[in-house]
Amino acid sequence: MLRQYQRIKSLHPDSILMFRLGDFYEMFYKDAELASSILGITLTSRNKNAPDSVPLCGVPYHSVEPYIVKLLKEGHKVALCDQVEDPKAARGIVRREVTRVFTPGVIADGLGLEAACSNNLASVYINDGAIGLACADASTGFFEASIHRGLPELNQELARLEPREVLVPSTDGGPSEIEASMGRAFPDLFVTRVEAERFDPALIQGLEGAAVLAREMPEAARAAGGLMSYLAATQMGRTGQMTGVRVAARAGVMRMDEETRRNLELTETMRDRAREGSLLWALDRTKTAGGARLMRRWVLAPLTDVAGINARLDSVEAIAGSPALMRALGDALGGVYDIERIASRAASGVAGVRDLVALARSLDAAAEIRGLLFGTEGLLSTLARSIDDLPELRERIARTLVDEPPLSAREGGLIRQGFCPELDGIRQAVSGSRQVIAGMEESERKSTGINSLKIRFNRVFGYYIEITNANRDRVPPRYIRRQTLANAERFVTPKLKEHEERVLGGEERARAMEFEIFASLREEAGREVASLQRTAEAAATLDALASFARVASEYDYSRPSVDDSLAISIRDGRHPIVERLCADRFVPNDVTLNGDDLRMLMITGPNMAGKSTVMRQTALIALMAQIGSFVPARGARIGVVDRIFTRVGASDALAQGRSTFMVEMSEAAVILREAGPRSLVVIDEIGRGTSTFDGLAIAWAVAEDLHDRVKGRTMFATHYHELTELALTRPSISNFHVAVREWNGKVVFLRKLTPGSTSHSYGIQVASLAGLPDAVISRAREVLANLEAGEFDEAGRPRIGSSSHAQQAQPRAAQYRLFTASAKSEVERMLGGIDANSVTPLEALNILHELAAKVENGRGDGR
Ligand code: ADP
Repeated sequence: MLRQYQRIKSLHPDSILMFRLGDFYEMFYKDAELASSILGITLTSRNKNAPDSVPLCGVPYHSVEPYIVKLLKEGHKVALCDQVEDPKAARGIVRREVTRVFTPGVIADGLGLEAACSNNLASVYINDGAIGLACADASTGFFEASIHRGLPELNQELARLEPREVLVPSTDGGPSEIEASMGRAFPDLFVTRVEAERFDPALIQGLEGAAVLAREMPEAARAAGGLMSYLAATQMGRTGQMTGVRVAARAGVMRMDEETRRNLELTETMRDRAREGSLLWALDRTKTAGGARLMRRWVLAPLTDVAGINARLDSVEAIAGSPALMRALGDALGGVYDIERIASRAASGVAGVRDLVALARSLDAAAEIRGLLFGTEGLLSTLARSIDDLPELRERIARTLVDEPPLSAREGGLIRQGFCPELDGIRQAVSGSRQVIAGMEESERKSTGINSLKIRFNRVFGYYIEITNANRDRVPPRYIRRQTLANAERFVTPKLKEHEERVLGGEERARAMEFEIFASLREEAGREVASLQRTAEAAATLDALASFARVASEYDYSRPSVDDSLAISIRDGRHPIVERLCADRFVPNDVTLNGDDLRMLMITGPNMAGKSTVMRQTALIALMAQIGSFVPARGARIGVVDRIFTRVGASDALAQGRSTFMVEMSEAAVILREAGPRSLVVIDEIGRGTSTFDGLAIAWAVAEDLHDRVKGRTMFATHYHELTELALTRPSISNFHVAVREWNGKVVFLRKLTPGSTSHSYGIQVASLAGLPDAVISRAREVLANLEAGEFDEAGRPRIGSSSHAQQAQPRAAQYRLFTASAKSEVERMLGGIDANSVTPLEALNILHELAAKVENGRGDGR
């Protein structure tokens, strides 16, 4: 057996091999050592103490799943090796084969596969600067490919697709540049190296769309080939769900990089990576798993084509405008199971009985949905037309399978009475013999006179007659003894055995027949995979649209008007998440941006005033409009945004070896390099992680460049009040502030975005609100007053350190003065005032003397 193990293990050297032995999956050698420590299970060994001892550990076969999930989470692959023949029928060692390989990107249902998330596997192939990317979800049959120029572009696409695992061709050296870049941007992504020759476009031949891909995007076709080869290897060739590969539509999709996706908290919060508090959480009221997955994809890939956006908005309006339709659609969608994944399982031959019953019910619901959409227009009617409820398949499943089938297809009891006369005949014979056996208990009691005689069944002995020791002497001679227990004996009779044979043999035959009927039904369903995928997509799309409609009416959203202008004009806009989570009443705000005099809003105001909130809500409203959702505002006009850039908060990437400041600057660099006139740029503080001068200088220069060259629509929040001066010289910059009032030395937040700048930071008041000790607060007020009175005293000593208390700060040589670009010293001024042509030698000597004295007297004015 260990030889068999070694042979199989040699085929899967990079996976942990789980080897079925009786009721356990066992792991041996290094796998056992690794798994026992990860899974916290005991490591034992065969032939303990012997020189050839074999370390091993195992888990029960019926609860193997959580163990596999745990190994996957730790970044390991798992090959599951099963017995592929009946141990009873086997001669010698039972034949075993690996039946599935699980990797982070290729997981089976039930193994921690989330219903509301895709489980994407990506594959990357680079040639000559072109990066081919393929991405597939083996659980649904989703498969698309694209070409990218440069790593930033690749990373944006990966941010949209959220793969769990990415395949790269193995190289001789260490990690390639691309591996390193993906690792930096996506720390959770699992990178698998695959032999370069497996990236072969021939491997996708025959799939719909493969020929076009091979012709027009050879690198993408290679990436797709590598992906298919990996899928086939892990799924043991069962890839029937992969029916076609499409070219990812990049035109028409808003581009966002990973940072922006994170900063805007689209699918999870930044702080604790929770779903609650994310935009997806606020928007997702879908009823189906497919709808939830699609909603997530939409949120990560807003549209930029006006017609496509308005088609969705029209549908949402139609649904939201008819409460009856909305309710009926919701009910019908509630009856749709995960058609996409069931179809995939059917096509790859692993669907269960309950899957098929669920499929038939889903098709019923799909037919109902199509009916509900009768008479609609536009996208809704297109969707209705793509729903194929496959009446024949539906009817055949309903006719074949019982309503509440057992979990397993091999244990019988799944085929409806009346479906197959032969099966019914066998069942009848079985139940006849069962009745005979049941009747025998009564007749044997009578004939032996033993009232406690019982006929029982167990798996080892089959049917037997049990007689307690007290009645042992009344056992008739025709009874054949089989087993003696402490207080009873067990017997059989030829007649009992004969009927047992009929029952067990019949049951066996019935089970086999039931399974065969089921398997052919499953095959039939599998053949419809392409049509089922289309129906699933239509249902998911409707579900997502209906979800928008539901949220819109529940939270009083309105339909945005989306066009090709450069306007962003929001009336009474609200932040979709803060408005639900904040305890106070949310204060709506107007925001207007255009390509003209309001291209950049320079926003000031104290900490906590609501600057971030109003900027994020603007970005979120634009994004929501472009995924086809209504928006939290009284009215909104959105001129399509092609890209959103954000530079917000201070997120240290210390693990990746970059400080806050470094992260900040590289984000700013990306914005300046890539943003354009149609972009929306949100900058929430910049230049804070360095000295005031550096920081202000950088912020100033960045703002200028954004305005003068990039020309994107920009919201720029800053604490550097100096930046508000930019509005004086730049026509398209306007100053705004988020208003506060000061009352009894305390700040009151009004949360209103108001034209004009503010020169007051209220930092100390906010610090006091936050609970800084009173002594520190009053000292801070003192220092602030000093600062504001002027930085230096007459003697040139910096005033910052001076105090009304006894101890005086020492004069320091270090001097600085804010923003006097070329303040001249007195000495320089005197020198400048000399007319060298008219001055006499004596005067010159006097001046020289005076100058020397000035310099001697203490560097007069700080120069
Ligand atoms: P800033 O960026 O100016 O420091 P934030 O935007 O982070 O301030 O806002 C601080 C807090 O104020 C938010 O967490 C939120 O609870 C509250 N807030 C902000 N804007 C509003 C608003 N318009 N209405 C009600 N509460 C708000």
